[in-house]
Amino acid sequence: MSTALFDLSGRTALVTGSSRGLGRAIAEGMAKAGARLIINGVDPDRVEKTVAEFRAAGHQADGVAFDVTDEPAVVGAFERFDREGIAVDILVNNAGIQRRKPLVEFTTEEWRKVIETNLTSAFIAGREAARRMIPRKRGKIINIGSLGSELARPTIAPYTAAKGGIRNLTRSMAVEWAQSGIQANAIGPGYMLTDMNEALMSNPEFNNWLMSRVPAKRWGKPDELVGAAIFLASEASNYVNGQTIYVDGGMLAAM
Ligand code: NDP
Repeated sequence: MSTALFDLSGRTALVTGSSRGLGRAIAEGMAKAGARLIINGVDPDRVEKTVAEFRAAGHQADGVAFDVTDEPAVVGAFERFDREGIAVDILVNNAGIQRRKPLVEFTTEEWRKVIETNLTSAFIAGREAARRMIPRKRGKIINIGSLGSELARPTIAPYTAAKGGIRNLTRSMAVEWAQSGIQANAIGPGYMLTDMNEALMSNPEFNNWLMSRVPAKRWGKPDELVGAAIFLASEASNYVNGQTIYVDGGMLAAM
């Protein structure tokens, strides 16, 4: 079977939060499919180390450390790409954080932090990317949602509010930018083995609950997002727009 439909050669992909976890796995998968990667994270040392590892593996990679909630830094990064002649063809809005506590205990500051990191960031980077994609009549935007885009669980109210927002922001991007040749879609991961879930992974009670709910009877591995990400970044998805693909071992279907 030809894989040309999924070939990302000649494309540049910016993946926010790609110095670790799911973002890194997505970035690696896209690099293997031929894309040039721009690695991002908050910690500049971790970004630099990731870039070095990508290059050592023979991939084309550069790094740009910024906090996705820092609007001037995000805008500044896109302006730097302009000056350097770098066109972002694929934007993956992946950077995100989780905070767990009962809704009545959340401070407004904590609420804002989760909303800004998980949702407002996708608006800001998405807008900057689209302003440049629209004249080129081409672009792929992939927003990372969650099962929390569809479902509520106790203790993660701001996260589910943000991820529900991601689902509808993705739809808005799709309907506004479709005529300009841009496709905006989302991926909703289930429970995946990353640092974000460190505390849950070692909690037997949570593991019992999870195994009773996930038809696949296991946690997801970061690499298991790569297929959906490459599909949504490639020509294979040119008529797919505004959708969320859940990669969750069947969990949503079983709820
Ligand atoms: P991790 O905590 O493992 O990694 C987070 C990554 O995002 C790191 O690279 C981190 O950079 C970066 N990051 C965090 N905050 C910012 C910020 N303000 N600006 C720039 N980069 C930032 O998270 P995951 O890989 O697990 O999660 C990635 C995405 O997937 C998130 O949007 C999350 O909500 C979503 N998701 C995860 C699930 C899971 O089970 N793991 C399930 C559903 C959705 P640094 O190294 O510098 O800190």
